[in-house]
Amino acid sequence: MLPKTETVLNFIGGEMREPQGGAWLENTDPATGKIYGRVADSGAEDLQAAVDAAQAAFPAWRDAPAQQRAACLRNLADLIEKHFEDFIRAESIDTGKPVALARAVDIPRSAANLRAFAEAAVIFAGEEFENETSHSYTLRRPHGVVATISPWNLPLLLLTWKAAPALAAGNCLIAKPSEVTPVTAFLLSSLIDAAGFPPGVFNLLHGRGAGIGAAIAAHPDIPAISFTGGTETGKAIYAAAAPHLKRISLELGGKNPTIVFADAEFDAAVDGAVRAAFSNQGQICLCGSRLLIEEGIYDQFKAAFLEKTDAIKTGDPLGAATQHGAMVSEQHMHKVLSCIDLAKEEGGKILCGGESLQIGGRCKDGFFIAPTVIEGLPQNCRTNREEIFGPVVTLQSFQNEAEALALANATEYGLAASVWTQDDATAERMAAEIDSGIVWINCWNLRDLNTPFGGMKKSGIGREGKWRAMQFFTEEKTVTRPK
Ligand code: NDP
Repeated sequence: MLPKTETVLNFIGGEMREPQGGAWLENTDPATGKIYGRVADSGAEDLQAAVDAAQAAFPAWRDAPAQQRAACLRNLADLIEKHFEDFIRAESIDTGKPVALARAVDIPRSAANLRAFAEAAVIFAGEEFENETSHSYTLRRPHGVVATISPWNLPLLLLTWKAAPALAAGNCLIAKPSEVTPVTAFLLSSLIDAAGFPPGVFNLLHGRGAGIGAAIAAHPDIPAISFTGGTETGKAIYAAAAPHLKRISLELGGKNPTIVFADAEFDAAVDGAVRAAFSNQGQICLCGSRLLIEEGIYDQFKAAFLEKTDAIKTGDPLGAATQHGAMVSEQHMHKVLSCIDLAKEEGGKILCGGESLQIGGRCKDGFFIAPTVIEGLPQNCRTNREEIFGPVVTLQSFQNEAEALALANATEYGLAASVWTQDDATAERMAAEIDSGIVWINCWNLRDLNTPFGGMKKSGIGREGKWRAMQFFTEEKTVTRPK
């Protein structure tokens, strides 16, 4: 049985614990606007208890056979699958995302993350080098106590994406989920013991980013932190970590282009562009929020894109047919609405959406925004440069490949791009020239967990994905002997 979610506790040293300072935060269901639980608001004493527990557990976990670590990760994946329906429902209620999305993406991917790194744990190895005079090899050693700080848009998916390699590599972990969406992390922590992890290997601290998050970033005994979140928060963590020379992985924001050439397979490109724009209410760092369309097909593509957008089923996230749910919080809804107001002030023409949505019944007080399409804005305005992180996409036309490339690269971000064309040479030239860590050709968000994942420019530092994550969570040592 999973615990009730009304009270979200910390998990330290193998035990559920209340925050020592007695402080709590409210947890709100964004689809109804109602408070449905309270969340531990951890402080420095809770952090120290977690660090102590993790340090005590570290030597045995580091020295455990890799097969044992892998078995714990696989057991945890099995337990998520055993409680699949509970996790899906909890993730949907906590985030406002459609249950169908949690079922198709969040929860299966979370189990898949754990399995992928269970496999990595047993085959991860150093390298060998040889020249005329010497033979060398590298050893990979875990850092000790490491931390993950993860956001609210894909709560369990992103937590497991980071926790799995940290644990697989032999580190002990302090994980901090977003205070906005803490529930599935809490449910996961209730299964840690049954999965076979020794006490202190996996610790979970809830609370405010500016409180416990900042304390983790500055703690001298946490030498590595893997962070996913906004660019400004990433900078703050980077600065707090600098005096300690911590290892830092930063997966930050995006302002990703979807680039459609006139020769693209039309229907597939429309489908892909709509999915890229509005999946998870546009709250995915990879979302294509700038749709660049070659001039010759602009009107035709715009009409098809609007028709498809209009057909998106918006409603109660718990409705089986719902495709577009609630924004994660009232605060975030207002932030996105203010971005739409800015787009209007900048001269943008709202082609559809552009306002909050009234959903009746139990969702009458929920935080909904209609899928919004805007055109008529130049690339150099704030709307086309700054991340909105909501269901808002702008349309721009381009005359040729050079202009498409210039528009694609004209932001400070560089996370992902998708290019739609049937001409391989065009696709490959664009892939080589776009400043982003990920380029999809004739697809969007097609993921292989083995591939490097991360952004250029202000979208981050470092790469995640199978071996990159295992490398991040270990230090490398070179051993050399003469020949
Ligand atoms: P935030 O940066 O606000 O928060 C991310 C995490 O950091 C949360 O756990 C938050 O806690 C915590 N945090 C906040 N302030 C601090 C601080 N000063 N020190 C330490 N930790 C802190 O991002 P959001 O949760 O709003 O997520 C949206 C952002 O994440 C978007 O910019 C999006 O692009 C990006 N993102 C990037 C991805 C990538 O892979 N590149 C993937 C997914 C999202 P709390 O929530 O409790 O305040």
